[in-house]
Amino acid sequence: MQIIYLITTGGTIEKVYSEQLGKVHNSASKIGQYLTRLRLPDCDVRVIPIMNKDSLEMTQEDRVGLVAEMSRLLPEGHPFVITHGTDTMVETGLYLQRTFPSLHVPVVLTGAMTPLGFEGSDGLQNLTESLMASRLLGPGVYIVMHGRVFPADHVRKDRDLGTFVETTQSVNPGGSE
Ligand code: GLU
Repeated sequence: MQIIYLITTGGTIEKVYSEQLGKVHNSASKIGQYLTRLRLPDCDVRVIPIMNKDSLEMTQEDRVGLVAEMSRLLPEGHPFVITHGTDTMVETGLYLQRTFPSLHVPVVLTGAMTPLGFEGSDGLQNLTESLMASRLLGPGVYIVMHGRVFPADHVRKDRDLGTFVETTQSVNPGGSE
């Protein structure tokens, strides 16, 4: 049985519509109910909700908390998928790259431009592809969105295109390239 740790942090993928507030926001994690729709007979996806925030509100303490949770689980040697808001996904990916320079497992960050369950959502596609990618990729930190895999230091969000695009230059000033 392939174990995958799915750490959830919030972002648009988990947003719900609040009739009281009249807008979408982050409250309880809803990834679990979507996972049950996937057929993963040889896969044990362990969901670990550590926060539920718009990623623009993520603090350095939040990222340190993410690292602490990963450090606790890394010795087990299983891949990670991390759901995250798209606005600061690259920032967190670069932080993880710098923090874990000698990873021995793949770490896949993913999210969505439209919340899970909303008409036209890309959330379930990105979640499904990320789970698959985490089983195939070598060690490293990646962003998986819309059928593509990017190393965390060669990607940026393109707001106009509504997706992520590759950068030829490394965007990690502290990185080795
Ligand atoms: N600002 C939000 C975030 O980064 C929305 C962007 C998104 O998740 O797509 O969490």
